[in-house]
Amino acid sequence: MKIVSTSVVIANPRRGDEGRASVLPGIRVSDRKERLGDLSDDELLEVAQTARRHASWAQARELAAIAELHRRRVEAETDGDLDYRILPAQESVTEEVAAALTITSNSAAALVHLAERLTGPLAATGAALEAGRIDLARARVICDVTDSLPDRATELVEAAALERASDQTTGQLRRRIKRIAQRLAPASVEERKREAVRRRRMELWENPSGTADLALCDLAVEDGHAIYNKITAVAQALRADGDTRPLNAIRADLATQLLRGVPLPDATRDLLTKASVLGTEASVAGEALAGQTSDRERCQDGDDTDHPAVDAELESLANAAHELLAEARGSVRSADRQRAVGRAAQRIHHRLAVARDLVCQGDRQSHGQPGYRPPAWMRREIEARHATCVFPTCNQPSHRCDLDHTVPWRPGITCRCNLAPLCRRHHRLKQRLDWKLFQIWPGLLIWVTPSGTWHIVRPDLR
Ligand SMILES: [Zn+2]
Ligand SMILES: [Zn+2]
Repeated sequence: MKIVSTSVVIANPRRGDEGRASVLPGIRVSDRKERLGDLSDDELLEVAQTARRHASWAQARELAAIAELHRRRVEAETDGDLDYRILPAQESVTEEVAAALTITSNSAAALVHLAERLTGPLAATGAALEAGRIDLARARVICDVTDSLPDRATELVEAAALERASDQTTGQLRRRIKRIAQRLAPASVEERKREAVRRRRMELWENPSGTADLALCDLAVEDGHAIYNKITAVAQALRADGDTRPLNAIRADLATQLLRGVPLPDATRDLLTKASVLGTEASVAGEALAGQTSDRERCQDGDDTDHPAVDAELESLANAAHELLAEARGSVRSADRQRAVGRAAQRIHHRLAVARDLVCQGDRQSHGQPGYRPPAWMRREIEARHATCVFPTCNQPSHRCDLDHTVPWRPGITCRCNLAPLCRRHHRLKQRLDWKLFQIWPGLLIWVTPSGTWHIVRPDLR
C-alpha cells in the first residue's frame, strides 16, 4: 500500500488498534488537504479502499460484540429452564440484536450465526475481516459454503479461501471454494442440499414500485430448470407465432396464467402437457402449476382499513414514558438495569390504570370482555391498530398472529388495552423471564430487553 505523503496517512491495518477501540485504525487526513475535492484521483481511490477496510474492521467489531453477548446469554441459561413454550436463549439473543440494530429477526439470526462462526471455527476469517483483507460479503461466502461441513473440511476450505479471497469477487470465491468443498466432503454437500429442499416454499414480496415478486424457493435444481425451460419453450413458440411481447414478459404472463388457473389457449396447453417438449420433466410445469387458485383475494382482506393517526396525546405519553425509563436507568449498574427499567415500566403501567379504564369504558362496550377469546369486533379493532406483530422489527401480519393478553388472562381483562398481536416466535420470546412487555395505553407498548434497553411500539408506527 502506497503512503500518500502530503495528505492521507494510511496505517497498516493489520497491526490493528485493539487497545484504543474508539480510534479507527487507518486514515488521517492532514490539515492541509482535508476536502476530498483537493485530492488527486489515485488518492481518492485510496481513500475509498481505506474506508472499505474501516467498514470491514467495524463489521468485525460488531460481530465480535454480538458473539460476546451471545456467549453470555447462552451461558446464563441453565438446562432446567428449557420449556417448549418459552423461546430459548439462543433465539432470544437474536431478538435482542434485531431490536437493537433495527433489523428483521432473519437478518439478526444470520448475524448471530456469522458472529458465532467467525469467533469460533472460522476465527481466521474473522481475523481477515478485522484486518480489512476481506470484506463482510466475502466473510459471508466463506461462512455459507463451510456451513455444515465437517470440522476438518471446514479448516481446509477456509485456508484455501483465505489464500486468494482478497483478490476474488464474491462470485469467483464462491465458485472456487464450492468446488473444493464438493471434493472434500461430497456427502455433507449432498445432505445440505436435501435439507434445503425440505424447506421449499413459495414467497411473496411487495416492491416499492407497487408491483410484487412471487418466487418458488429451494426447489430441487432439476425441478427449477424443468419449469423454467418448459415455460421458456412455450414462450419461444408464441414468439415464433408472432407474439410481440418480450420473452421475459411472455414467461411471466404464462406463469401467472397457469398459477391463477386461467385457461390457456389449446396450443399452449398442448405444449405444456406434452412430454416431448423438453425431456422427462415435462409434466412438472403442467401438473404442478395448473389448477391452483390465486391467494390474492385472501391476502388483500382487511388491508384497506385506515389506520388512525397517532394523536398528539399518545405521542406525548410515549415521550413521557421514554423519559421516565431513561431516568430509571440513569446511573444504575448494568447488571441491575433490566430490573430498574422493568420496574419503571411497571410503575407507568400502574399509574395509568384508572385513566385506561375510563378510556375503555367510554363508548359502546364496557371495559373488558368476560371470556378468554376476544369477540370478532375486538379482534378487528386490534388488527387494525397493529397491522403486524408488535415486536419492533417483526413484519408478520397480525391476522396470522395470536392475540396475546399482555397481562396474562384473568376474567375481565380481555380488552383492547390488554391485547396485542404477537407472532408465535415473539409470543414465545415474551414468555421469557428476561424480557418484559407492558401495554401502558391501548396500543402503546413497551418492550424491556434483557440488557435493560426498551423499545416503545406505537399503534401506527408502520
Ligand atoms: Zn381496557
Ligand atoms: Zn413477531
